[in-house]
Amino acid sequence: MKTADKCSSCKGTGIYHKYKGVFEPEEIVPDKKCPSCYGSGFNNRYTDSLVCPYCGYDEEDSWETADESYNYECANCHKSFAFETEHTRTFTSRRVECLNGAPHRLGKRQDFEAYYYERCQDCGHSVRTPKVVGDTKGEG
Ligand SMILES: [Zn+2]
Ligand SMILES: [Zn+2]
Ligand SMILES: [Zn+2]
Repeated sequence: MKTADKCSSCKGTGIYHKYKGVFEPEEIVPDKKCPSCYGSGFNNRYTDSLVCPYCGYDEEDSWETADESYNYECANCHKSFAFETEHTRTFTSRRVECLNGAPHRLGKRQDFEAYYYERCQDCGHSVRTPKVVGDTKGEG
């Protein structure tokens, strides 16, 4: 069994330590919970795996669990607790040459009754080309 690290803010006590400066001792506020660990004394915030806030049991297989739970039973101490996962936002960028002067890469030309419709595969820009009514050019 793996146990989570102790909370570094309260040194595992779960009690709020008020930081007063480098040269002054921390003031301990016994009736206030440590805001970093919500009083559990364990490092259980933004952890890679699910940590029980009662016993510090580190569920290394927690990727199998749901994204959040309001009633989750610890496999070690069998107390119930709640948890949620924070999803980090990720970005994926790509070059779009047609936004920088290059011609659009137009997709398949769709034939509608009054116009042709083409859409750029890169930027989504669409081009409508109206059909000229009565244009019989080249058809004798
Ligand atoms: Zn703490
Ligand atoms: Zn537990
Ligand atoms: Zn484009």
